[in-house]
Amino acid sequence: MTSLSVLDKSVAFITMGCAKNEVDTYTMSTKLKRAGYTIIDTPEQADVVIVNTCSFIQSATEESIETILDVSQYDSIASGTGHLVVAGCMPARYGEDLTRELPEARAFVPCSKEDDIVEVLDKLFDITRSSAGSDKDVLNEAAPLSMYVKISDGCNRFCSFCSIPYIRGRYHSFTFQDIYANISDLVSRGTKEVVLIAQDTGRWGDDFKEKSSLASLIDRLALVFPTTWFRVMYIQPEGITDELLDVIARRANVCNYLDIPFQHVNAQVLKRMRRRGSAQEYDELCRHIREKIPDCIIRTTFIVGFPGESDDDFEELCNYVEEADLDYIGIFPYSREEGTRAYDLENQVPEEVKMQRARQLRELADCVCTPRMAARIGSRASVLMLGYDEDGMLYGRTAFQAPDVDGCTFVDRGTPGEVANVTITDSLLYELEASRA
Ligand code: SF4
Repeated sequence: MTSLSVLDKSVAFITMGCAKNEVDTYTMSTKLKRAGYTIIDTPEQADVVIVNTCSFIQSATEESIETILDVSQYDSIASGTGHLVVAGCMPARYGEDLTRELPEARAFVPCSKEDDIVEVLDKLFDITRSSAGSDKDVLNEAAPLSMYVKISDGCNRFCSFCSIPYIRGRYHSFTFQDIYANISDLVSRGTKEVVLIAQDTGRWGDDFKEKSSLASLIDRLALVFPTTWFRVMYIQPEGITDELLDVIARRANVCNYLDIPFQHVNAQVLKRMRRRGSAQEYDELCRHIREKIPDCIIRTTFIVGFPGESDDDFEELCNYVEEADLDYIGIFPYSREEGTRAYDLENQVPEEVKMQRARQLRELADCVCTPRMAARIGSRASVLMLGYDEDGMLYGRTAFQAPDVDGCTFVDRGTPGEVANVTITDSLLYELEASRA
């Protein structure tokens, strides 16, 4: 056995899927750095490649498998000098089956075991941890300007199309103390925007012995970190409370932005999805939000081609999108996932019909939403400057642009990290241009 004093082992991550996986990668890489491992961004040269997989839907699973097979062809992995580790949703969803299917991998780390990542890698290198690596460097390292922070994991809703509750397990809120400590560390190292995420953010705190709420969490965080932007994503419609809307309206550093997945508007389709709601209810919800916060951005997502979605149901959805007061709309064709309740539903919609409906609704949504961006030309906005794109153009995001899913704003001059007051001068679909003049 090797006694660890100074480690010379490098680790690279390849992260698939959504923002929640990015957070998990960040957490694992921080643990590994603190334990003395070196994180590099060239997987071909790493002693360990960790593929943090996504298997939320079939196409994501296929992409994860392709990536794992690509990595297994690296010289280091193929020759046995390097190690391949598969983490995240795939080991959580497929368990033992994966060990048989992917003999190239030296270890599997499901989501629930990611806290043990240091022990897993130590075992690969036969390391005993008699003296851990210093965490001094990690504590001093600059954190990204915008960071996702997970406030809970798992989900209890069991929507009939969704595999998440089977992958991530039952809903559990993280404690205020843990969330606070995480954000405090990030802010002290330079983070300017914190995006709160979870599978179901609106439920935060309702599983505590002494119940709490998302509204009180945001209120406290916004008060304690007054110069940090806060944004919350993935609030189910049931999670939109007056208390929450009041906090968003009152706190200047909480973005007037709500991301509420509706998934459909036809009441019967929603019922088969094991969700509540209807076009009328969602209309009323949007109206209520705008009464409380007139300039609130509302983003939603829709699934098309769910089993039994008729031409009329789809038309109802199209009519809703045409008339509704929505700023951003994500559209996904239904993916038939083994192990979910919707898998066995009758009247599955043919693949080509799903794709055609997704394209049609995408075009319609763009026709409705992009003029709302163009209408901002000439208005003033605050932009959190984030850096330079691959063409060297300085960009940032306004409070009405969430990371990864919305557009960004290109600004004529400024410094990453500052918040600039700008005038919007042009738009291209969801992207904006702005000047400080
Ligand atoms: S609320 Fe979201 S994560 Fe939970 S089951 Fe429904 S779609 Fe899946």
